[in-house]
Amino acid sequence: MKTLGLIGGMSWESTAEYYRTLNRLTRERLGGLHSARLVLYSVDFATVERLQSEGRWDEAGAVLADAARSLEAAGAELLLLCTNTMHKVADRIESAVSVPLLHLADATADAVRAAGLRRVGLLGTAFTMEQDFYRGRLAANGLTVLVPDPDGRALVHRVIYDELCRGVVREESREAYRRVIGQLVADGAEGVILGCTEIELLVGDGDSPVPLFPTARLHAEAAVTAALADGPRP
Ligand code: GLU
Repeated sequence: MKTLGLIGGMSWESTAEYYRTLNRLTRERLGGLHSARLVLYSVDFATVERLQSEGRWDEAGAVLADAARSLEAAGAELLLLCTNTMHKVADRIESAVSVPLLHLADATADAVRAAGLRRVGLLGTAFTMEQDFYRGRLAANGLTVLVPDPDGRALVHRVIYDELCRGVVREESREAYRRVIGQLVADGAEGVILGCTEIELLVGDGDSPVPLFPTARLHAEAAVTAALADGPRP
């Protein structure tokens, strides 16, 4: 079993779910009292969010590269960056360490293709929905990506930062997300990527007429598969 290194805290509401899912899946696959071997570096999200909103991505990358180096020094053999948005600085993290980073968009695209789908909607922060670092990576994996209209994108982004990252889950926001998903489906989406690790705290399969792809869960599943590829190790 490889030791996983999690760069988390963005927000901790979703990192807590990663911790649960990684441990639950490890127990399911190995049985008994097995649990995930992992190291977590949880950042202060207020610092990262300020750097994001001020466009200071280099500095944000430096913060996360430092976290990655600490995880490598602590014995991590495979890194997970537990946020879609901060994959904007994935290159910076990868070049700071010699252990691999399991890219969230690749794990997600693998799951979409395995389901036999190609044309998908994408929900996430404005950075994720509008910039190329994430959409481009999905496209490079063979997917056609649709995003909500400007009002839909603003709503999805606002709910992430003002509610979900603060632990607030509102029925009214779930309804609003259902409408945005419905529009993506009307536009031709065969599935919808929940491309922000908190969105799966708000919506699930019952909220969509097409399959949903919850990125935190899919990332954790891919990580457990990779960690156990060599079998359990004492
Ligand atoms: N967890 C979120 C994501 O997956 C948003 C928080 C962040 O900006 O990192 O994109």
